[in-house]
Amino acid sequence: MLRIKKELIHQIEKQGEEGYPYEICGFILGEIDYENDLRTAVEVVQVENQNKERANDRFEIHPKDYLRVERYADEKGIQIIGIYHTHPDHPDRPSETDLRFAQPDMSYIIMSVKNGKASDWRSWKLEGSGFVQEEVEII
Ligand SMILES: [Zn+2]
Repeated sequence: MLRIKKELIHQIEKQGEEGYPYEICGFILGEIDYENDLRTAVEVVQVENQNKERANDRFEIHPKDYLRVERYADEKGIQIIGIYHTHPDHPDRPSETDLRFAQPDMSYIIMSVKNGKASDWRSWKLEGSGFVQEEVEII
């Protein structure tokens, strides 16, 4: 389960609308309780979408950004608990590409942005070889 503040969702909505019609992406930082499969988000950090050719339906995160955000989280005593990205004019469901890059124990927020307006969103997690929708508690 993912526990996340409403304010962080608002930040993702804003970033998604500003980045439209391209996909925007970033890291969800916080704490993981592995025993209870509970991730608590405390911060979101947007990073550049490195995929310039198909930025409308693909996103890529540079390894340097990964390292930089990991270090930043370390300094704050938290960790990367997930990744968020938008689907401009597409539903909030993971694509085949999303699945290919997914890692276990992480939350994947996918937010649909329709006609420039943030719309539905869901959080997904890897289970076996596929994604399942995960429960979200807004705090
Ligand atoms: Zn996607």
